[in-house]
Parts: sequence; C-alpha cells; structure tokens
Amino acid sequence: MLEVRNIEKYYGSKNNVTKALDRVSFSVAKGEFIAIMGASGSGKTTLLNCISTIDTVSAGSILLDGENIAELPERELARFRRERLGFVFQDFNLLDTLTLEENIGLALTINHADPQEVQKRVREAAGRLGIENELAKFPYQVSGGQKQRAACARAMVAGQSLILADEPTGALDSKASKNLLEIMSKMNRAMSATILMVTHDAYSASYASRVLFLKDGRLFNELIRAERTRQV
Ligand code: ADP
Ligand code: ADP
Repeated sequence: MLEVRNIEKYYGSKNNVTKALDRVSFSVAKGEFIAIMGASGSGKTTLLNCISTIDTVSAGSILLDGENIAELPERELARFRRERLGFVFQDFNLLDTLTLEENIGLALTINHADPQEVQKRVREAAGRLGIENELAKFPYQVSGGQKQRAACARAMVAGQSLILADEPTGALDSKASKNLLEIMSKMNRAMSATILMVTHDAYSASYASRVLFLKDGRLFNELIRAERTRQV
C-alpha cells in the first residue's frame, strides 16, 4: 500500500549539505501499525514530511496505492492529503466554530459528498470511538479525550489510506498518552486503519505491530513483533 523506495533527502546548499535521509526503503501493508523510532536528528520528521507531501524527496520515490507522491502537481497536494491521508495531531487541530460532527465530516463535505452519506459515515466512526452522544457539541464543550477521539475519527472518516502521526504523545502525560494509544490501536484493529507513527518513546512504540529504526538518516533494522493480543 505504501512503498518507500531508496529515498534520499538533502538540506542546504553545495558547501553545507545535511543528508537527512540516506537510501531509505520499506513498504507498509494495509492494516499495519508502524512506529518509526530513532534519536533526535535521525530523520524521523523528515521522513514523515516527505510521505505527507509537506516536503519533497531529493531522490527515490514514494508510492501510495501505486501513485508516485513526488509526481503530484502542487495544485493537487491539498486534495491528495485530504482524501488519502489522515493526520493525528497532539493538539487535535479541531476547528472551534464547528461541532464535532462538522469537524469529523469536514474532508468529505469539502469534497461535496452527499450530506446523508457524510452523516452516516461520521456517526459510524463516532459510534466506534464512543463519542456518538457528543456530535452536536463544539470542541470547547467536550473533554480532552473526546476531542482526541473526534480528531482520530476525522483522520479516517473519509476512507483515508494512511494515518500519519508525528510524536502524537510527545506532550501528553502518561494517562493521556495511554488513552490516545488505545484509541489508535482501536482504529488499527477494529477499523483497519493503517498507521505510521513517529515516536522516540518505547512505550508508544510498543503499541505498533512493527518498529522501524532510523539512525543518521538510515534505516538500520526492523523489529517485527508478534501480533499483539492487547484488547481495546
Ligand atoms: P528527527 O525528527 O529524527 O529529530 P529530523 O528529520 O528533524 O530528525 O532531522 C534530520 C536531519 O535533518 C537533522 O540533521 C536536522 O538538523 C536536518 N534538518 C531537518 N530539517 C531541516 C531543514 N529544514 N533545513 C536543514 N536541515 C534540516
Ligand atoms: P487546505 O487547507 O487548503 O485543505 P492544507 O494543505 O492546509 O490544505 O491541508 C490539507 C490537509 O493536510 C489537512 O487535513 C491538514 O490537516 C493537513 N496538514 C496540513 N499541514 C500539515 C502539517 N504540517 N502536518 C500534518 N498535516 C498537515
């Protein structure tokens, strides 16, 4: 589903080049929950930004469902991100002036999906994540955990192929981290979301089905975990 082939990323100019990614290759199958680990400066965010089309690779290719991200024209990037990628942010990134229902369905609404279809999909995702009774509320009227669930529902309600999360638990205390990881795990297991999560935290990575390690821009090994039996 995601194919990263031999990508390289350089920053800077001739006399001062930083090689942020060096011949990185891996693939992700549908339904996997991948954690990308590595020390600060190892290239994790660069890798995620290249996949999310926020940044471009210097060499190599990234294919999502067979489509080469590097060849997408600029004007199609916002649409590509909205339709194909879901983002889980630390700070939820919900719009204050919209209800949870409107926030969750936003990408579909922008794409002019049939309103009844939007409502159906939003309610289904909200139901699975346990916020079906909060849909008419605005973000300021619900708890942090409920906002997080709404943000997660939004990341997958439009049928996005891949969910990207950059240090989603980075600023959370351990209880909130555990909550978010349980939600992501549920999205992965019960709702078949494919997730790519950058983290430097081993506890967060323990929720993944596979861990990729970056060191100085190179992928140096993979740890394949046994299928987890964690119940969510
Ligand atoms: P990580 O997310 O693992 O901390 P990054 O992807 O942020 O690593 O950084 C990888 C390397 O690329 C580092 O050496 C960093 O200094 C460099 N780098 C990242 N972004 C830029 C940039 N915009 N300009 C120049 N160098 C950068
Ligand atoms: P638009 O606002 O015109 O739809 P954007 O490029 O701002 O286009 O956003 C498209 C999608 O990409 C949105 O779902 C947004 O949440 C996500 N997005 C935008 N910027 C970032 C970023 N820096 N990191 C992760 N996701 C982003």
